[in-house]
Amino acid sequence: MNDYIEIRDLVVFANHGVLKEEKTMGQKFVISLRLYADMTNAICTDDLDDAVNYAEICEFVTEFTKKNRCKLIEAAADGIARSILVCYPLINRVDITLHKPWAPIGLPLSSVAVNLCRRRSKAYISIGSNMGNRKRNLDFAVERLKFTEECDVKKVSSYIDTKPVGFTHQDDFLNACIEIETILKPDELLKLLNEIENEAGRTREIHWGPRTLDLDIILYGDTVVCTDTLTIPHKEMSCREFVLAPLCEIAPYAYDPVSGDYVINMLDKLRKAQIK
Ligand code: ADP
Ligand code: MG
Repeated sequence: MNDYIEIRDLVVFANHGVLKEEKTMGQKFVISLRLYADMTNAICTDDLDDAVNYAEICEFVTEFTKKNRCKLIEAAADGIARSILVCYPLINRVDITLHKPWAPIGLPLSSVAVNLCRRRSKAYISIGSNMGNRKRNLDFAVERLKFTEECDVKKVSSYIDTKPVGFTHQDDFLNACIEIETILKPDELLKLLNEIENEAGRTREIHWGPRTLDLDIILYGDTVVCTDTLTIPHKEMSCREFVLAPLCEIAPYAYDPVSGDYVINMLDKLRKAQIK
């Protein structure tokens, strides 16, 4: 969907800046926004209740920009864009330009600005537990994600019993997959998942060993990530039935952006390979 609403040059008097004078006296900021949204319903019903109300957004942005003080226009713009995504579920992407026309640099300039793009992405999280009350641990993960304002839980698969892999002298697992929409970037999402694991009492003694809660990012839209701490798509997804089976239940046609393979085909291949 490439439909968007454009708000141009909303002027807000606010107190962002590094210098003391900027913080105390304030200055003019000029904000332009592109709000990408699904307008199908609004167009169909021609009713403001089904639309992104741009008058309301202008007020929201004005208030937010005045209330939250940042040193940098980068941080101010990021805060505005994220808060729009959190508060307006119809909007799935925000492009923002934040101008600071009176930037006090001692040289004549007409304006300085930052441009940012923030969006909502679909991600699939695999969850597993084989210690304590396994069902309660998985429920905890789902509820915790539901209560995180940067995440929307869209689907939860059934919980399935699975045999441990790798380190096999341990209890059976309970596994599931969750579909979320999130405004968190991949590394921010990993940090959140690690926090939830820790809250559930997760310790890391044996690699692939018993755990109260394991939360892995399997897919994050079409994004490919390969850093020291994060690999997306998850490295082992195509060889783990305990990931693919529940994932296939909620998203058979989600796909690995590297291989182009659909989840349903990966699961089919894995099961055939296991029979051989
Ligand atoms: P595993 O999930 O493989 O059983 P851990 O849960 O102990 O093992 O994860 C070890 C590390 O794997 C994490 O600290 C994290 O930095 C890294 N990691 C790499 N890619 C991912 C991913 N896609 N999802 C979750 N963790 C990941
Ligand atoms: Mg893990």
